[in-house]
Amino acid sequence: EIKRTGRGNTLLFSKELVEEKERHLIIAQRLKHAVPANEMHLAFQPLVHADDFSLHSYEVLLRWDNPILGRVSPEEFIPIAEDIGEIVRIGEYVLDTALSTYTEELGRDSHVKLALNISLRQLVVPGFADFILGYLEKYGLSARSLILEVTETIFDARNQNQIIAVLNSLHAKGIEVHIDDFGTGYSSLSRLHEMPISALKIDKSFVQQIDDQRCAIIEGSVMIAERFGVHTVAEGVETVEQARLLHAIGVTYLQGYLFGKPKPHFAEVTVHSDFLLWTKDKQSRAS
Ligand code: C2E
Ligand code: MG
Ligand code: MG
Ligand code: MG
Repeated sequence: EIKRTGRGNTLLFSKELVEEKERHLIIAQRLKHAVPANEMHLAFQPLVHADDFSLHSYEVLLRWDNPILGRVSPEEFIPIAEDIGEIVRIGEYVLDTALSTYTEELGRDSHVKLALNISLRQLVVPGFADFILGYLEKYGLSARSLILEVTETIFDARNQNQIIAVLNSLHAKGIEVHIDDFGTGYSSLSRLHEMPISALKIDKSFVQQIDDQRCAIIEGSVMIAERFGVHTVAEGVETVEQARLLHAIGVTYLQGYLFGKPKPHFAEVTVHSDFLLWTKDKQSRAS
């Protein structure tokens, strides 16, 4: 296969393509042994209320360290795991380990929620709802402890009715469903009103370099969410200025390095000193 991007570059690019395919193959092969070989672990990142930066939930993020490949980003290996179907077994590891860690570190009575990323491929496995409920039962956890983050790909899937039914049965038990990476999928949202969604999660690409255009997309997302009676989450918040702007726009929850990076434990929210100034400011303006 040859990718033509300009005179003279043809050979170089085709070599890169081959290398990319080889890496893809190696990852696919090694992924099958990653869980049994103990190469995976979880990281937890806090989400806070935009009003007072108090803790709302933790998102569970998968990490993979392979002896040969080193640290591989989930951005790279998750799509491959989805391709080869391995995501189903990996997803079970994530669910089991996340709930076990939650029970040990936060306890069954905690009101902090846990947000899991779920691939479309997992969602359409027959019995998915019972699978999730079974693990909640295993650890004696309430369905209210759980948030499932699914991407806009659910709107493009062929089996819409099946997806809506699965999400409805989970929602009926008290599990929240959030739409991840909102705004990046170019999806038809025509059946959004049929989905039991509790929040739209605005992708970090809109948050990180906020300009007029990206700001308009965030405002538009908040407006859509409000019309549907659901919350919004902004991910990738790194600065107090971004947090301030997102709060002013009306985003409900914030997530990003400002409040804490993904850590192997349920680390406390890092309270930024600028934030204290900001709340004082708000209080004095309000009184
Ligand atoms: P996502 O679900 O949209 O997760 C948010 C990503 O943004 C995470 O990347 C997180 O580490 C990163 N992030 C959070 N705050 C900041 C910030 O302030 N600045 C910057 N630069 N980045 C920030 P990560 O951990 O590399 O995960 C990438 C993607 O991989 C996730 O995107 C999700 O789609 C997927 N993923 C991760 N774990 C799982 C999993 O267990 N199952 C499935 N199906 N997908 C997963
Ligand atoms: Mg997510
Ligand atoms: Mg996201
Ligand atoms: Mg994202």
